[in-house]
Amino acid sequence: MPPTPISTTVVDGLALANEIRKELSEAVGRHVAAGRRAPRLAVVLVGDDPASASYIKGKRRACERIGMDSSERTLPADASSERVLETVAELNGDDGVDGILVQLPLPGPLDANEITGAIDPAKDVDGLHPMNAGRLLLGEPCLTACTPLGIIEILRRFQVPLEGAEAVVIGRSNIVGKPVSLLLQRENATVHMCHSRTRDLREHCRSADVLVAAAGVPLLVKRDWVKPGAAVIDVGVSEIDGVLTGDVDTEGVRGVARIVTPHRRGVGPMTITMLLRNTLEAYEARAGAWAG
Ligand code: NAD
Repeated sequence: MPPTPISTTVVDGLALANEIRKELSEAVGRHVAAGRRAPRLAVVLVGDDPASASYIKGKRRACERIGMDSSERTLPADASSERVLETVAELNGDDGVDGILVQLPLPGPLDANEITGAIDPAKDVDGLHPMNAGRLLLGEPCLTACTPLGIIEILRRFQVPLEGAEAVVIGRSNIVGKPVSLLLQRENATVHMCHSRTRDLREHCRSADVLVAAAGVPLLVKRDWVKPGAAVIDVGVSEIDGVLTGDVDTEGVRGVARIVTPHRRGVGPMTITMLLRNTLEAYEARAGAWAG
């Protein structure tokens, strides 16, 4: 007898993001109604990369929609490291700024670690400062990278059991793979972190109750890589012939996975939502700054 097909839920990440943004908007509204200024996110853009400019536009719009303030500092592509660090220092010292985000990737010789490491950890809403990364490792409260937070929120809202679950994460970057592995471990999952040198990736994936694909390799995860009933989170975004593609063959895993996030309207809207949530948290933690 062939196995009974499983009913697969394709996660609508935008609908979920909108639900959470409504909660955030209400929280911002309560602060403003109490006579406090709105939280503010400051974004630093170096250069004129069109993709980065478009991401920033999306973030600005997302802030506006929930009543948060945002501001942008744009520097030329040939800005020196000192100039970028000076800008970050100004924003660190500005009491009216709660969250600082330096849009990555940075052009040319600029060192992303040096620059994100200069952000005040209390305003580091991307969760990339070594202090926040270290606190995450130690299981202490901290600002955490937005995409991993979004992934955990999707799993939580779809009631995917994590306690004791086998979780496989493909990718070990500082921005996705490592932090999401730590967050899954914190939820008591047994986590296997796979990467480009992993032997027999398919076999690892087939054991996963929760599979997070963050390799940036188009359609890497195929139907026969997925355990029946698994939750599959597709983080990857790549382009093939001008068409955006994820790491997972979403159509292929239908009938096998219990839930799957599509590469569009999946994890992406949740990432921006977690940026808003981090900014609100940073604002609330900086209670003394509200008076301005
Ligand atoms: P990265 O390039 O820094 O890391 C990729 C990781 O995947 C590496 O650890 C590498 O070892 C691993 N890898 C590469 N090829 C592999 C293979 N064939 N098999 C197994 N592992 C392999 O990328 P990143 O910044 O972590 O992003 C990963 C993907 O997620 C990219 O496509 C990126 O565009 C996307 N992304 C999406 C969002 C979102 O909000 N949707 C956010 C961040 C990143």
